[in-house]
Parts: sequence; C-alpha cells; structure tokens
Amino acid sequence: MDAADVTQDLTHVLFTADEVAGRIAEMAGQIDADYEGREVLLIGVLNGAVMVMSDLSRAMKSHLTMDWMAISSYGSGTKSSGVVRILKDLTTDISGKHVLIVEDIVDTGLTLSYLVQNLRSRGPETIEVAAMFRKPEAMTAPVDVKYVGFDIPNEFVVGYGLDYAGRYRNLRDVGTLAPHVYGG
Ligand code: 5GP
Ligand code: MG
Ligand code: MG
Repeated sequence: MDAADVTQDLTHVLFTADEVAGRIAEMAGQIDADYEGREVLLIGVLNGAVMVMSDLSRAMKSHLTMDWMAISSYGSGTKSSGVVRILKDLTTDISGKHVLIVEDIVDTGLTLSYLVQNLRSRGPETIEVAAMFRKPEAMTAPVDVKYVGFDIPNEFVVGYGLDYAGRYRNLRDVGTLAPHVYGG
C-alpha cells in the first residue's frame, strides 16, 4: 500500500486550515448580513468548490438551498481559454432567486465570466460570486467577485478543494507543491 502522506508534498503553506476556517466564518457572517431576510441559493462549481461550499454553507445561519454545476474549461495546460462546456447543469430553476456562485479560485476569471453570463440569462433576481481565492490576473475578464476569501500571488496552489492532476483536494492547508511532485 502507498502510505505516502500528501501533506509532505507541500513546499510552502500559504494558509493553514485554521486560517481558512477563520476567513470562512467572516465571509459567512458578511453574507448572512447582506442577504438578511432573503433566501439565497448557493451554486457550487464542481469539483473544486466542494470544500468551500461545505464549510461556508454550514458557517451561515440563514435559510439557504444548494445546487451544483460542473463545467470544463478548455485550455492549454494550466491556462483557461474561456471556452466552457457544461458537464452537469443545475437541477433547479433559478429564475427569481438570489443566486450566489461559490467558487474555489478565480484566476483569469474567464470561466467565471462565462458562468455568470450563462446564469444571468436564466433570470435570477440577483447574482453574486464568492470565491475562496483570487489571483492578480483576475482582471483579464472583468468579473465582480463580491466575496473574496484571500487574494494570493500568481502561483499554482493546491489543497482545500484545489487539485493537481486530481490529487491534493483533501489537503486541509493550502500551499504550493514541491518541485519533485511535477516529476522533477
Ligand atoms: P480561470 O478561468 O479563472 O482562469 O480559471 C479558474 C479555474 O482554474 C479554477 O476553477 C481552477 O480549476 C483552476 N485554477 C486556477 N488557478 C489555480 C491554482 O492555483 N491551483 C489549482 N489547483 N487550480 C487553479
Ligand atoms: Mg473552480
Ligand atoms: Mg483543477
């Protein structure tokens, strides 16, 4: 059995599990206050947003519902192109609802910009975005992310839902991978 400890592959921890949890609690409080008296529909973007969705929704005190979408963004290597394919659509009708898209990370914002446009055409009452992480390049496509967990440097990070080749989503801390992981 491969008993390798995934936490050993992080070379630099940017945010510990405690720091992530603390920020999630603050974001939840802000969202609760902003939506006071209005029921929000959280839309999680699979697979990366699973952890954020799980923690953020449970840190919130308001009534809420959840739905999920899976999208694939065509791109070469680590860059997304903004050409997006819906792999799994919502199961609910969002017209007239207060929609809050829950994302793991916004890099160029191209994926998100497509998603917001697509969902807006379905007639929600309001639509906003919460993202756990945002990179500096997030200006490429001008998407307004109302709730940002942390602004991070332009580095490839893993953990807390974020993967490298499908792995490392289960890391509680968020950080950068050691060079040996990339086949060095
Ligand atoms: P965008 O369209 O904003 O450029 O790309 C967003 C998507 O790219 C994210 O949902 C995520 O899947 C992936 N991504 C962007 N930056 C990172 C990163 O630092 N680490 C990981 N694991 N995925 C990233
Ligand atoms: Mg995502
Ligand atoms: Mg990924």
